[in-house]
Amino acid sequence: MSKKRNGKVYLVGAGPGDPGLITVRGKFLLQRAEVVVYDYLASPKLLKYVPKEAELIYAGKKGGVKHTHTQEEINQMLVDWAESGKMVVRLKGGDPFIFGRGGEEVEVLAKSGIDFEVVPGVTSATAAATYAGIPITHREYTASVAFLTGHEDPTKPGSNVDWEKLATGAGTLVVYMGIKNLPVIVTNLMKHGRDPKTPVAVVRWASTPEQRTVVGTLETITDIVRESGIKPPALIIVGEVVKLRETIDWFEKRPLFGKRIVVTRTREQASELMAGLEEHGANCLEYSTIKIEPMDSYEVLDEELERLDEYHWILFTSLNGVKYFFERLYAKGMDARSMKGPAIAAVGKATADLLLDYGVRADLLPAVFTGEGLAEALLDQGVEGRNVLIPRAEKAREILPETLRGAGAQVTVAPVYKNVSPEGKREQLRQELESGKVDMVTFTSSSTVSNFLSMVDADSSSELRRLMHEVTIAAIGPITAKTVTDNGLHVDIQPESHTIPELVHEIVAFYSNK
Ligand code: SAH
Repeated sequence: MSKKRNGKVYLVGAGPGDPGLITVRGKFLLQRAEVVVYDYLASPKLLKYVPKEAELIYAGKKGGVKHTHTQEEINQMLVDWAESGKMVVRLKGGDPFIFGRGGEEVEVLAKSGIDFEVVPGVTSATAAATYAGIPITHREYTASVAFLTGHEDPTKPGSNVDWEKLATGAGTLVVYMGIKNLPVIVTNLMKHGRDPKTPVAVVRWASTPEQRTVVGTLETITDIVRESGIKPPALIIVGEVVKLRETIDWFEKRPLFGKRIVVTRTREQASELMAGLEEHGANCLEYSTIKIEPMDSYEVLDEELERLDEYHWILFTSLNGVKYFFERLYAKGMDARSMKGPAIAAVGKATADLLLDYGVRADLLPAVFTGEGLAEALLDQGVEGRNVLIPRAEKAREILPETLRGAGAQVTVAPVYKNVSPEGKREQLRQELESGKVDMVTFTSSSTVSNFLSMVDADSSSELRRLMHEVTIAAIGPITAKTVTDNGLHVDIQPESHTIPELVHEIVAFYSNK
C-alpha cells in the first residue's frame, strides 16, 4: 500500500490589518486552503476568501489575555493537519517572521518532515509609519531603521535588546509590543543618550478604520499615551521622521475617517456603497437587512415567457429584477433574441446599464428614477390596452402596476426574486445604537428602511427616536426618504440624482462641510 500523501503548510503574512494589504500570493493560497489557522492580529475580513468547506481555527494569542491555544498546541495542530493530507494556511498578522514566532512554527514543521512555504507580509511597523504619515527613512533625517521588541523589560538583566547601542545606533526605532513597558523604554533610551526632545509617535490598530495616533517626545509620550487611553496593539515610532506627519498625514485626514456608517443593503449590492464609503475612510458596519433569494417557483414568469411576443412593454424596476429575469430566461433555453418584440423600460440608469450587459438596450428611461417616474413616463406614451409585464420582487410597492392598470393597461406582475430578512445580527445592531457608536445609517430603498426598523425592534416611536437621536440618516431618493419620515425619523442627506455614487458624494460633502 502506498503511503498517504502529506499535506503542506503555508505560513502566510496577513499584513497589518487593512485586508487590502495581503499579498497576491497570500490571497491565492487562502482561496485554496482546506484548513486556516489564524491569529488575533490577522484581519478577519480576509477569511472571506477561504472556501466555505474549509476548516477555520482561531488560534487567538493576545498579549495579556489568556491564549486560546498555546504555541505548542498550534505547532502540533499544523503538523497533524498536514499529516492528514490537508493544505493548511497558517495566517499570521503582519509578516510571519517578524516577532510572530513564525520561525519557531516552521522549525517544528521542518523537523517533522512537513512540506512548507513562507509568504512574507507587510509588517505592522512599515504600515503604521506609512498610515500615520511617517516615512520610516528619509534622506534628510535618517539612513537607518531598527525594529525591536518592547516585550522585555529593558532594565531586566539578560534582555535580548541592546538598548545602550540602539538608543543612538539607529535613526528610526520602531518598537513592537512596547505599550506596557513604554515608561521604561523611553527612560532607557534617554539614559543611553537619545535626546529627550526626539519625536515619538504611537500608532494603534494601524491601517484599520480604528487607527489612532498620538505624537509627543521621549519626555512626554508616556503621559500622552496614558491620558489618551491607548492600549495594545500599538507600535512606538521614535525618530526625527515623526515630524513629517504634520505635513503628510493622509490616512486619518480622509473625510470619512473614523465615521461608523451602517450600510443596509443586500449582501451583493452592499459592496458598491461600502467600497465608495471606505474609499473615503469610513468604517462601514454592514447590516445586510435584506437577503435576495430566487423564487421557489417561476410559474407566472414561465408562462409569460412562452408568449413574450404578445407584450408591448417589459418594465424592469430593479437590478435584481433584471438579473433573475435573465437567469430564468436562460434556464429555459432562451436568450435576448426572445425579447425583440416588446419595448423595454428601465427604472433608472443602473438598471438600464445592467440590461445592456445582458444584450438589451432600454427604450425608455424616466426623467425621475422611481416607480412613479416610470409610471408617468409610460402614461405619456399612452398605455391603454397595452400588455405590460413587470418582472420584480415578490413583495414590492404596487404603485406602478396600479397606476398603469388605472390607465387601462393589462399588467402582469411576475415575481422573479424575494427579499428575506436574516435573523441574528439584531442584538449587535441594537447595542451599537445604544452605545452611541453609530454616526450614520444609509438607506438605499424603502425595504432597507423597514427591514432596519424591524431589526432595531424599538418598542415605540419615541424609543426609536431616542436610539436614532444622534444618528445622521442618508436616503438615496425621495421614496426611501418618505419611508424614513413616515416612521417619525428625519433625513439629513439625500442626493439629487438617486444613484450610489451620488449618495457617496453627498455623504462626503456632508462631513467635509462640518
Ligand atoms: N508579525 C507581526 C507582529 C506581531 S507582534 C508583524 O509583522 O506586524 C504583535 C505586535 O505587533 C503588537 O503588539 C503591536 O506592537 C504590533 N502590531 C501588529 N499589528 C498592528 C497594528 N495593526 N497596529 C499597530 N501595531 C500592530
